[in-house]
Amino acid sequence: KKITIAIDGFSSCGKSTMAKDLAKEIGYIYIDSGAMYRAVTLYCIKNGLFSGDEINIPELERHIKDIHITFKLDEKTQLPRTYLNGEDVEDAIRTMEVSSKVSPVSAIDFVRSALVSLQQEMGKEKGIVMDGRDIGTTVFPEAELKIYVTASPDIRALRRYDELQAKGQEVKFEEILQNVKERDYIDQNRKVSPLKRAKDALLLDNSLLTIEEQKEWLLKQFEK
Ligand code: C5P
Repeated sequence: KKITIAIDGFSSCGKSTMAKDLAKEIGYIYIDSGAMYRAVTLYCIKNGLFSGDEINIPELERHIKDIHITFKLDEKTQLPRTYLNGEDVEDAIRTMEVSSKVSPVSAIDFVRSALVSLQQEMGKEKGIVMDGRDIGTTVFPEAELKIYVTASPDIRALRRYDELQAKGQEVKFEEILQNVKERDYIDQNRKVSPLKRAKDALLLDNSLLTIEEQKEWLLKQFEK
C-alpha cells in the first residue's frame, strides 16, 4: 500500500536530494514544493512586481490567478522540471536573485493558500514524496511518514556553494551563508505556517552524514 511522505526542514539541508533519491528508489513521485514558491517569485520578478526587495502585494493578488505552475518529467533524468505558464523555468528559479526574494513571497497568506491547495491536489494520489517547510504540518498533516531535517548553517551554505559553483554560477560563500541565515529566520518567524517540526516527525540532523548514509537511514524508516 502506497503512502504519503513529507520531508521538511531548513533551506539547503539536502531535503531535495534526499526526497529525490528516496522517490526513485521506491518508485514514488517526487514533488518539490519550494520550486512552486520560487516560480511565483520568478513571475513577480519578470512582471515588475518588485521594487528593490519590496514586493507589491496588492498587485500580486491581482495576478495570482494568472500564475500556473506545473511539473513535467524530464525524459533523460526522470526528474520533474518546473514550468511557469507553460515555460520551463527549472534553471531560472535556482538563481541567487530568486533565492534572495523567495522568503518574503512565501510569507504572503494568499500565495500560501493557493500553493497549498495545488500541492494537496497533486498529492491526492498516494505514492508521493513531497519536500518543503510545512508539508507535515499543513499540507499533509495525515502523512504516514514525516521527516524533519536539520544541519548547521555553515554546512548548508557550503553545500549550496558547491552546487552553484558546479553549475558555473559566480557566487560568494559569505553571501550564501547570509542568505541561508536570512531564510531560516523568515521561514521560522512568519505568521502563516512557520517552519517547525510536526510532533510526529522523525528528526534527522545530517550535518555529518554522507548522501549514502542518509539514504540508508531514510530507507530504513520507510521499511519500518
Ligand atoms: O526548498 P527551497 O529552498 O527551494 O524553497 C525556497 C523557499 O520557499 C524557502 O526558503 C521558503 O521560504 C519557501 N517555502 C515555503 N514552504 C514550502 C517550501 C518552500 O515557504 N513548503
